[in-house]
Amino acid sequence: MNRRPLSIAAAALLLALPLLPVPDFWITQLNYIGLFSLVVLGLVLLTGVGGLTSFGQAAFAGVGAYATAYLTTVLGLSPWLGLAAGLALTLVLALVIGMLTLRMSGHYLPLATICWCLALYYLVGNLDELGKYDGLLGLPPITLGDFSFQSERRIYGLIWLAALGAAVAVTRLLDSRPGRIMRALNTNRGGGATMPEAMGASTFRHKLVMFVVAALLASVSGWLYAHMQRSVNPSPFGIKFGIEYLFMAVLGGIGTVGGAFTGAALVKLAEDQLKVWLPLVFGGSGNYEIIVFGIVLVLVLRFAPEGLWPPLSRWLARRLPAPARRLVDEHAPRLSARSHPARGTALLDVRSIRKQFGGLTAVDDISFTIRAGDIVGLIGPNGAGKSTTFNLVSGVLPLTRGEVELLGQRVDGRGSRAIARAGLSRTFQHVKLVPDMTVLENVALGCYLRTRSGTLAAMLGTDRAEEARARAEALRQLRRIGLADQAFELAGNLALGPQRLVEIARALASDPSLLLLDEPAAGLRHQEKQALAEVLKQLKAEGLSLLLVEHDMDFVMKLTDRIVVMEFGRWLMEGTPAEVQASPAVRAAYLGADE
Ligand code: ADP
Ligand code: MG
Repeated sequence: MNRRPLSIAAAALLLALPLLPVPDFWITQLNYIGLFSLVVLGLVLLTGVGGLTSFGQAAFAGVGAYATAYLTTVLGLSPWLGLAAGLALTLVLALVIGMLTLRMSGHYLPLATICWCLALYYLVGNLDELGKYDGLLGLPPITLGDFSFQSERRIYGLIWLAALGAAVAVTRLLDSRPGRIMRALNTNRGGGATMPEAMGASTFRHKLVMFVVAALLASVSGWLYAHMQRSVNPSPFGIKFGIEYLFMAVLGGIGTVGGAFTGAALVKLAEDQLKVWLPLVFGGSGNYEIIVFGIVLVLVLRFAPEGLWPPLSRWLARRLPAPARRLVDEHAPRLSARSHPARGTALLDVRSIRKQFGGLTAVDDISFTIRAGDIVGLIGPNGAGKSTTFNLVSGVLPLTRGEVELLGQRVDGRGSRAIARAGLSRTFQHVKLVPDMTVLENVALGCYLRTRSGTLAAMLGTDRAEEARARAEALRQLRRIGLADQAFELAGNLALGPQRLVEIARALASDPSLLLLDEPAAGLRHQEKQALAEVLKQLKAEGLSLLLVEHDMDFVMKLTDRIVVMEFGRWLMEGTPAEVQASPAVRAAYLGADE
């Protein structure tokens, strides 16, 4: 027994509702709830998952509504052409707004969407062609062959097909190659650009895609709304509704697909009730419900910050059969592997690199080389410049001066995405996992550059064969580091030691020619350190090349072929572990520091 048949039955019942003798009023309410849910689903993706706030979704619905209204009433074209035109116009507008604002820091997008929402409202309200504030009347119903979606009971089917279809598509997207990157971006939940970029993904592109998808969903909602009402005017597309959509998303549970429907339904139903009761209480008319919503929003944020759907879904989960766990098909064909350089060939050549942070020179003229199959250690007291060197080599920070060559290619100044593509993968001193994703999904993030499926394939579900291969690869890497048992655990539930191992598995999943590990042993307990040393020994035996930054000398001594020692940003010495251990200069550096 699993949950799938139940979900399908519930969806079928919902779609068949107008065929049953339910009152017209219910159908009308559900039509609005479906239309709102479509818009809010976009916000779930954009704001809940991506951490990008938009007040302008109502304006995108307006674009969809006005495009079809103009085409069908003034030009006499088909509503389906109206849909195509609305989506095309929305796409262009979302791309322009997104490109202008998404490269800037977080708050430019919300500001831009507020301006955009206000501007559109006054623009359509003042255009003669669009009927000014009276809008356009007499839109034709949507037809399909001889069938007309004229009545509320008929357009209900279209609305809910669109809403449920969008819910399935967004759910699939979140569980896909681009979706994993999107889930890693949310800075409100400890994410950011550094890790996805180091896995080879463009964070700007993924933000733009989220913004466009959200805008298109709103546009479809606007199209349906226009043909349900058979008229349009500016008021439902103004900033008040822009805020209300965001309110629905937060109330329902931002970041969850179920939350979009919960929020839309609660707000719609509450609004109707309040519109009846509040004027009786306060006397006269007015938008009193806005005041109540404001108070409710504050209470929700204070007492149920995750929204109402997550607790509701946990309550339901205890009463329903468990969802079928998606198993990993270990017989899925392997992802393509790169051809690795033969042992002994020059892999990394770092020449006189330098990094200045204002007046502080954190890395001063550092040079070293790594040959394929080497394990090189980079050591030095705290603050010596090891992590900075690492960030320079991996492209996370731009160099002030110097050259880096990876496999014969100059990579300095190329950014971490290009360097990842060239065959370098890394872990972070401060672990960067996505805590609310499973261990397996986190490791699958590392397969980004070895897979191709994009957003459309994910939403349509045509990426499943490739996904199976990525998941199989992730499990293989987890087995390699001895964590296969925890594949389905949430990454945030693991202790620090295993989390560091998961980061190594994620880096390995990209099939690197060179692996950079930044303080993998930091904060680990003795046993965890030993387990890590075993894993690294095994990787060495498999011929992988490693650059290992460590503070802990003993740990490095047993593993490395050669060691580069830094102090105060400068090169102190390079030699075998025995030479380094015997060096008085190194001993002095470590004794002089905080040891
Ligand atoms: P290590 O990893 O060897 O402990 P780091 O490379 O982290 O050392 O730091 C080297 C020096 O550079 C330190 O003095 C540190 O305070 C400074 N530093 C590191 N990152 C930055 C930054 N982003 N801005 C300014 N100073 C920095
Ligand atoms: Mg460091």
